[in-house]
Amino acid sequence: MKTGQVILVGAGPGDPDLLTIKGRKALESAEVVVYDRLVSQAIYDLIPDDAERINVGKESSHHLVPQEEINQILLKKALEGKRVVRLKGGDPFLFGRGGEELELLVEHGVPFQEIPGITSAIAVPAYAGIPVTHRDFCSSLHIITGHQRAGKPLNINFEALVQDGGTLVFLMGVSALSTICQGLLDAGMEPDMPAAVVEKGTTPAQRPILATLSTLPETAKAQKVKSPAIIIVGKVCSFTEQFDWFDKLPLKGKQVIVTRPKERAGTLSERLRSLGADVTEFPCIETHPLLPCPEMEEAVDHISEYEWLVFTSPAGVSALMEMLERTHRDVRALGPIKLAAIGPGTNRELQKHGLRADLIPDIYDGEHLGQALCQEKPAGKVLILRAQWGTPALTEVLDRGTISYSDIRCYETRYTASNNDDVRRLLAQKPIVTFTSASTVRGFVLALGEDLDYSGVTAACIGQQTEAEAHKYHLHTITAEKATIDALIERIMEGE
Ligand code: SAH
Repeated sequence: MKTGQVILVGAGPGDPDLLTIKGRKALESAEVVVYDRLVSQAIYDLIPDDAERINVGKESSHHLVPQEEINQILLKKALEGKRVVRLKGGDPFLFGRGGEELELLVEHGVPFQEIPGITSAIAVPAYAGIPVTHRDFCSSLHIITGHQRAGKPLNINFEALVQDGGTLVFLMGVSALSTICQGLLDAGMEPDMPAAVVEKGTTPAQRPILATLSTLPETAKAQKVKSPAIIIVGKVCSFTEQFDWFDKLPLKGKQVIVTRPKERAGTLSERLRSLGADVTEFPCIETHPLLPCPEMEEAVDHISEYEWLVFTSPAGVSALMEMLERTHRDVRALGPIKLAAIGPGTNRELQKHGLRADLIPDIYDGEHLGQALCQEKPAGKVLILRAQWGTPALTEVLDRGTISYSDIRCYETRYTASNNDDVRRLLAQKPIVTFTSASTVRGFVLALGEDLDYSGVTAACIGQQTEAEAHKYHLHTITAEKATIDALIERIMEGE
């Protein structure tokens, strides 16, 4: 049997976007992933569905798999011929026991690779606005473990460190914080030397605390600092006051729940995250093309009878394209028909297929789309391809304008979210919940239950219809000026 291989991958310090491109590629092609607790959910989500996942750092039961056993797991899986990724927080070779894990593999001739990661030792200070070196203040950086082996004193040469005058970064140092600071004081470091501790760095929960060498232990204790946290000692710490960019992001500390369908959540979630929000994805709906759809097929067979083809969402465009594909046709079957899209998102979906909307209303909702169509004074019929429960606002306007149309349901919306304790718990933290359609509101409430107390929730709605739906459940709403993701994000930034 062929031998597999083991790839040690550094997952970075917490922010999932700080995984390297090479690390991501390795993860996406893994057959077995061995990971521990410092790895964030978003990185965990990159593991292929069919890969075996082995958690060797179960935090909940405080049960850690002994190092020797981890080494054996890696060896065993590789000898089974598997492509094994060993995922580790930060960089595998910096206080990550990466070296130890390779020894057994070398002994057995198992091929391996090491993909470095962004280490918390540098990235966490950076996210707190602390450059670990600065020409005016220091000429070296020391990364030190503050981990004490049971019953043994800290093995740190404080005199040498103080004499050198470089920046000091301590990992695993929370429980030994006072010993570390006292050691430095005893070795002659000035008590007012700037010092900082940064908890859960590069994550939405990042908390930087600035003090001095003499006050840091007390301050950290008062603020109940917990691991993982990094301790930084040196003049560079004072830069945090000026340079702390991450904690000043406009949505820092805000809990945001994104309810869009999974395939559309990406950009909204990413943009909210890059503004500092703590984003939880909770997809509440899914759209499914109704296929086969004889009505839509027939309409396309008689497409020359229509003057306009109208879409009220990207899902309508996808459903049409899938139907064409299934019936061995392509966009040429549409002939010279004019295209109307409810908004830029739907137009983008058209563009993916080489098409472009001739008409997009100024306000992106059904009513304004109807009005814009009326202004075009169509002589021929209008073909609307939309959801199973499309809003009547569009067809009412067309009726008033005595415009003839076919309104064909070509996809359905399914409520996908199931009750989720994590999301229920989040409600207590007064989250903002983004709703990009009325159906996402229904899906959300349906999943968590109508009886729940939603009074702390702010519903960020993309438009009027979504807002009206949210009011039915007595949610406090804020609504985007225009029905676009940009405008929704802007509205969220303006605050409640
Ligand atoms: N190999 C890792 C370090 C492993 S030791 C790396 O290169 O980052 C674990 C220690 O790293 C923790 O005790 C803590 O001191 C530090 N650490 C890791 N992630 C951190 C984070 N997000 N915020 C603060 N400290 C972190």
